[in-house]
Amino acid sequence: MLKVEGLNAWYGQAQALFDVSLSVGEGELVVIQGLNGAGKSTLLQSLIGIGPRAQGRITWQNEPIQTWPAHRRARAGLGFVAEDRRLFTGLSVKENLWIAAPSGSSAQAMPAQRFERVMALFPQLQTMLHRPASQMSGGEQQMLALARTLMTGPRLLLLDEPCEGIAPVLVAAMRDALLQLAREGVAMLVAEQNNILARHAQRVLVLTSGRIDSAA
Ligand code: ATP
Repeated sequence: MLKVEGLNAWYGQAQALFDVSLSVGEGELVVIQGLNGAGKSTLLQSLIGIGPRAQGRITWQNEPIQTWPAHRRARAGLGFVAEDRRLFTGLSVKENLWIAAPSGSSAQAMPAQRFERVMALFPQLQTMLHRPASQMSGGEQQMLALARTLMTGPRLLLLDEPCEGIAPVLVAAMRDALLQLAREGVAMLVAEQNNILARHAQRVLVLTSGRIDSAA
């Protein structure tokens, strides 16, 4: 489904990724672990096409996509949720979701099935549809960021620390929602340090100073 071969990335002269190769199969949950600065965010950003200068081969559904801009990768089924969430904080929950709906849809024609699905996954959001994102807790914002990405109908989710820095009760809700999505066949590549999804993963990769050093 996703195959990465010999990926290198540089911030100016400083190399952040060294010859990274990995794959994520249909419906697989793969976790990338590593210390702060190991290159987890750089790797995910390179895969969605918003990373620094990179070289290497990225294949999605048998097509090389490394030259594609981010929006084309997103349209092809890759969904990315950044560590800093990147919400429109002045907009409401519903507006944040609506903005992510595929172009051509209107508020009335919002892809109803996807909306119902994200509401079922995150009932917490249903009670705050008209609240500005700026007035939500960190965990609620994290749920909204994931829900917004789900509105694009991704087949593979690239998630940067989805359970980091949020209240324990929301960690459990986030974990359960992600495992539910995995059961429904959404593949995931998740960067995390806190071992919450790793114990449910098909494979755990460890990134050390920009290199994959072991796979289980
Ligand atoms: P964290 O968990 O702290 O986010 P990470 O594993 O995601 O860490 P990256 O953020 O990908 O690691 O960083 C990998 C390396 O690239 C680090 O040495 C970091 O200092 C460097 N780096 C990251 N972003 C930039 C940037 N915008 N400019 C220059 N160097 C950067």
